[in-house]
Amino acid sequence: MIADLFNLFFPKTCVTCNKTLLKNEDLICLFCRHQLPLTNFHLDNENTVKKVFYGRVPLVNATSLLFFYKKGITQRLLHALKYKGEKEVSAYLGSWTATELEETNWIKDIDVIIPVPLHKKRLKKRGYNQVEGFGRTLANHFSIPYESNVLIKKSATRTQVFKGRLARAVIKPHHFSLQQKEKITGKHILLVDDIVTTGSTLETCATILQESPDVKISVATMAITI
Ligand SMILES: [Zn+2]
Repeated sequence: MIADLFNLFFPKTCVTCNKTLLKNEDLICLFCRHQLPLTNFHLDNENTVKKVFYGRVPLVNATSLLFFYKKGITQRLLHALKYKGEKEVSAYLGSWTATELEETNWIKDIDVIIPVPLHKKRLKKRGYNQVEGFGRTLANHFSIPYESNVLIKKSATRTQVFKGRLARAVIKPHHFSLQQKEKITGKHILLVDDIVTTGSTLETCATILQESPDVKISVATMAITI
């Protein structure tokens, strides 16, 4: 009753279209929910996300829940998540992804879920890592540990890479480091992020995770740019 009254004066609105939500709607109105373009990539082992990483880093599985078109509904949804403080969008998409993955054996041999980290300055500014709700919801749903202290983002740094006789300077725009690497040795990691565009951030993260012996990596994201 109090909740109903509160809702009367401060109605909840859809995060993508701003229309007032009905009682049975949560976060996103049903109209918008039906507009969201599902990829169904989890049903296809040689899908577009996996192909993004061919020849770059070996992945067991890869999927994204939604297609992301410029100026499309997924863009509005992720914009709300990243820039308008709508952090619940993250868990919402995690829950949806969990339901989709239940149809397959996709997640059965995942041992740990690890998010692409944010640099602590960005974390402070936004107040949350936009992928945390997504990763934690998947982890809770399938009773898999969620580990956010293994992969750490450091500030942009120049690193010297020596390969055989050729020494070259490489600038890594996103510099990540691996902590307590023994924690993930021999494990199948599900690396989670909000969106795949060029795939370079996920590629860098996956490569760093491979510094621990015998790891296998799969990737799940909320969306993929088309
Ligand atoms: Zn809506």
